[in-house]
Amino acid sequence: MRVNLYSGFSALIHPSICITCQQKVVKKEEVICIECDYHLPRTNFHTEKKNKFTERFWGRIPIEAAASMYYFNGNEHVKRIIHGLKYEGKTQIGEQVGRIMGKRIAYANPTFQKIDLILPVPLHYKRQKERGYNQSDFFAKGLAKTLIAIWRNDLLTRKVNTKSQTTMNALERMKNVENIFEVVDPAFLKNKNILLVDDVVTTGATLEACAKEILKVEGTKVSLATMAFVL
Ligand SMILES: [Zn+2]
Repeated sequence: MRVNLYSGFSALIHPSICITCQQKVVKKEEVICIECDYHLPRTNFHTEKKNKFTERFWGRIPIEAAASMYYFNGNEHVKRIIHGLKYEGKTQIGEQVGRIMGKRIAYANPTFQKIDLILPVPLHYKRQKERGYNQSDFFAKGLAKTLIAIWRNDLLTRKVNTKSQTTMNALERMKNVENIFEVVDPAFLKNKNILLVDDVVTTGATLEACAKEILKVEGTKVSLATMAFVL
């Protein structure tokens, strides 16, 4: 909660400063300026049907399309963006990246125009209580605006409060999240084109575990979107 209060206070004093270069931004609701946005390392995965993101899921689960906004590796600005969103309460970052990304992916790839429902990867309620929010909710909210879809954060839940995955290898990550997610209202998901979203994708274990549960519901199709992609 402390993080949230600080962020609200900070936003009042510095309403329009770019998170990466500290220069003024044009619009009050923006947190990444036009120039920084232009220089960030975009993946442009959404312009290719087969890309490094879809490849990561080959032989695992059927994915309609997958897009990620930025490469995470070795870029200080992208790290700053993710860190600000995740740990400093700067939730506007998620919304802004979501809005920009929604426009770009819908324009370039018809699969993203058909999305009905956007579901963020859920945090365990204890983790969310500690952080005060789920960072992926804000990214989902931004995407929903420009993809003209609805987003819901109450249809998928995390039953187990798992350990941090940062030091785990691919197999350990897979075991860590196996069978820990649950679809709350399967009838609502039936026959929908669903976009499952998270902040960063590394091995894809978490997205895979969530998608598996969603795909158990009749007629569902799953696409994926993340803010950053770890090579
Ligand atoms: Zn900037």
